[in-house]
Amino acid sequence: MHDPTKFLQVRVTTLSTRVVDRLETFRAEQRNNVSLLTRLTAHLGVIALVLIGLLLGGLQLQAAQQPRTYDQPAAQPAGIPDVNLDQSYNQSDITLSAVPFTSKPKKDRREVTTYIVQPGDNVSVIAARFGVTPDSVIWANAKLEENPDALTVGQTLYVPPVSGVLHKVAKGETLQTIAARFKAQVSDIFNDPFNQSIHDFKSSPPILAVDGWIMVPGGSKPIVQRVIQRGNIAAPGNALKGTANFQWPTSACISQYFWGRHPGLDLANSAGTAVNAADAGFVEFVGWDNTGYGNMILVNHGNGTLTRYAHLSAFAIQAGQSVQKGQLIGRIGSTGRSTGPHLHFEIIVNGVHRNPVGVVQGRTPGRCNR
Ligand SMILES: [Zn+2]
Repeated sequence: MHDPTKFLQVRVTTLSTRVVDRLETFRAEQRNNVSLLTRLTAHLGVIALVLIGLLLGGLQLQAAQQPRTYDQPAAQPAGIPDVNLDQSYNQSDITLSAVPFTSKPKKDRREVTTYIVQPGDNVSVIAARFGVTPDSVIWANAKLEENPDALTVGQTLYVPPVSGVLHKVAKGETLQTIAARFKAQVSDIFNDPFNQSIHDFKSSPPILAVDGWIMVPGGSKPIVQRVIQRGNIAAPGNALKGTANFQWPTSACISQYFWGRHPGLDLANSAGTAVNAADAGFVEFVGWDNTGYGNMILVNHGNGTLTRYAHLSAFAIQAGQSVQKGQLIGRIGSTGRSTGPHLHFEIIVNGVHRNPVGVVQGRTPGRCNR
């Protein structure tokens, strides 16, 4: 006769052994990837919980109905069933749920991925999703080099397989000239599996496919400084001046932080949310900006200090007037190059963008949950 208890024990022992094997394989591959190990540990913890429940309750393990489409260990041994998790478990603790915005990128992604921009996306978020630096996404998409904020929903972006410069080979270029141009190592380009799949590295010297992509791991391009858009009205002598103590211009969460190519903060909230002057000053510009800011306000606070408020849906003031600190000046919107309602907020001091976090007084808004 078939003894269900014994069968279960055997099955559990086998499973445990496989789980340990899987952990070892995974560890060997992912020594440098602490976050994935942490996730694996959490995954194993859930499996252990389910196994305990199985022993106590005599439940049957079932194979998972849905294959995971991301974060799949590269060398997953065949035959290991995933588990259906009881609905009473907290879903947020589970790594199996397909939540695209919080997912880790596919490991060993070795191709150039085309990505369609979704509502609310920005370069930082997309880069993090694919495990590359924001600059790498910018460099792979020439249009973005002039304005990294210039994303529109539905736009197609190239995402490089690893961080660095994704480059289209031009006639006459060699591994040496490309490495020199992007300040990278020839060996890193040569050893990249993506490049090996496109170019003929077996020939000596290597033959590059003209117009083919080549990945320059660790490469970089110089930062093109954006011209600071200004209004054309000079502040009169009696214009209000700022106190140099800024307040937050709106209540929101931060959807994109300040970084090299993004000289401000994206403060997300629903369209129509009030936008207030961060400090007293003179309104130098109110209107449409066609470089991507959409409906924009520029306030001159005196002493070489400006604040910019972009993508607005409405204006509450006019150019040429003074505003008090905290005065309503407009409403959050999604005008210009924007993928969802947010305020793009900049502080500029003597021509240099400052990170509002650390400059603005009061409690810094939290990061948006995505
Ligand atoms: Zn922005």
